[in-house]
Amino acid sequence: MTIPTIGVFALQGDVREHLAALTGLGVEAISVRRPAELEACDALVLPGGESTTMYKLARTFELFEPLQKRIRGGMPTLGTCAGMIMLADRIEGGTADQETLGGLDITVRRNAFGRQVDSFEGDLEFAGLDAPVHAVFIRAPWVEEIGPAVEVLARVSSGEAAGRIVAVRQGHLMATSFHPEVDGDGRIHRLFVDLVSTGSTTEAP
Ligand code: GLN
Repeated sequence: MTIPTIGVFALQGDVREHLAALTGLGVEAISVRRPAELEACDALVLPGGESTTMYKLARTFELFEPLQKRIRGGMPTLGTCAGMIMLADRIEGGTADQETLGGLDITVRRNAFGRQVDSFEGDLEFAGLDAPVHAVFIRAPWVEEIGPAVEVLARVSSGEAAGRIVAVRQGHLMATSFHPEVDGDGRIHRLFVDLVSTGSTTEAP
């Protein structure tokens, strides 16, 4: 198969780290700020950042509807942290007028881990990976509820939030509450590239 082009939504968020992670895996990675750039993509990453700003910028730059259309049309998409919120069909703790692109049949809770523990790190078992992932959470959401088509990929393993869902997949959509782009471990991006290239992750379903 030809090398896929994977876009990173680049109006807001930690774009550079995702571009580097994807480039490191040998795919063509491009920034997406306008509809023509989105059209060039086979798949997309919605990065971490601030979801309340992201949806507004997506509206302003006329990317909101094209993004929604591509996501609904089957474009493989990975959302991390704020990107997970952007993919969620329902939000708890959003601002009054907050919109999401949707697609994932989940309810996410924004800033779910509480203000006192704004950021933390921990190791997680992740479906499809042999060794645990070191996960970095920054004012992260968790997944409060999932629909029947959603597969849980990871949960918090210990502490007060133990058992909370922090990574999911539904068909062509994947999302993590944490930031797989910050620790230099490319395995989650690799799972996503596998999903883009073959329609499934390396995990046996
Ligand atoms: N708290 C942010 C939001 O609601 C997400 C934080 C992040 O992406 N690191 O969008």
